[in-house]
Amino acid sequence: MEVISIIIPAYNEEENIPLIYESIVKEFSRLPYDVEVLFINDASTDGTLERIKKLSKRTSNVKYVSFSRNFGKEASLFAGLQYITGKAAILMDADLQHPPSLIPELIKGHEEGYDQVIARRNRKGEPSFRRLCAAAYYKMVNKVVDVDIEDGVGDFRLLSERAVQAALSLNENQRFSKGLFSWIGMQQKIIDYDHVLRENGDTKWSFSKLLNYGLDGLWSFNHKPLRACFYTGAFILLMAVIYSAMTFFYIVKNGIDVPGYFTIISAVLLLGGIQLLSLGIIGEYIGRIYYETKKRPPFLIQETNIGNGVPYEKKR
Ligand code: UDP
Ligand code: MG
Repeated sequence: MEVISIIIPAYNEEENIPLIYESIVKEFSRLPYDVEVLFINDASTDGTLERIKKLSKRTSNVKYVSFSRNFGKEASLFAGLQYITGKAAILMDADLQHPPSLIPELIKGHEEGYDQVIARRNRKGEPSFRRLCAAAYYKMVNKVVDVDIEDGVGDFRLLSERAVQAALSLNENQRFSKGLFSWIGMQQKIIDYDHVLRENGDTKWSFSKLLNYGLDGLWSFNHKPLRACFYTGAFILLMAVIYSAMTFFYIVKNGIDVPGYFTIISAVLLLGGIQLLSLGIIGEYIGRIYYETKKRPPFLIQETNIGNGVPYEKKR
């Protein structure tokens, strides 16, 4: 039977590990596929790893990779893609917010030959302020970046072997999976589902994390923000030339009059603000270059039950 791999990043999800495993097994009992569940323990500080190990002792289809420290969900997904052996991979969260009941539909898309079967959640039942923010954000990002990032589309999806290889070939350090998966393109099918609330444990997203993640999306795909700085600068320069010329002729005609506090202070503040903003944007890109040139591995493994820890992908 063909093997489907499920990749589950887990950070402090002890209560959820057995639950998600059980529901996955339940789904697969009705499907003509074997399942391999690969947990990526992102250096949890609770009993997550113990729970995973307990499962892995009971059945051979539970694999795990445990990180040496918390590297974040993006690194976990990347690691997961490297260590699977299945023909297709399903990425899902440990917290049951990605309903396992969608697995049959995802696999159906796989059978139909799609390379990416994407689960898209709607925002039913979410506070309307949050909905508005999300809508505005996605509208703006899609204007700025080249790839299409859709609201409600996350990492919950099935990838064909081809798509997995493609995602792995983008071996950049600063990963923004949502965008990377969109960047690789290929045949895609979308499946809608209702938003599910998290029952156990807490979300790892604070407001500042969410804001930073949002900004990452802006810088990760092209240099349009830099170009915006250039245009703003050019526009202001033009204004300054016109204004100076006008003032020059005014002075030649009428002589110098002293008042000018308002013009000076607003010019200083405006220009200072724009310069700092532009420097910040340039800094974001330089920061990225800095991290990429170091070529550090995106994660380090503390322990695993997969052979000697050599990624399967490298053995193929
Ligand atoms: N996660 C992880 N490393 C982290 C933070 C989160 O592997 O540093 C995992 C977490 O265990 C969960 C998934 O990523 O399986 C999504 O996290 P969370 O539920 O906090 O995000 P949300 O659903 O609120 O977007
Ligand atoms: Mg969640």
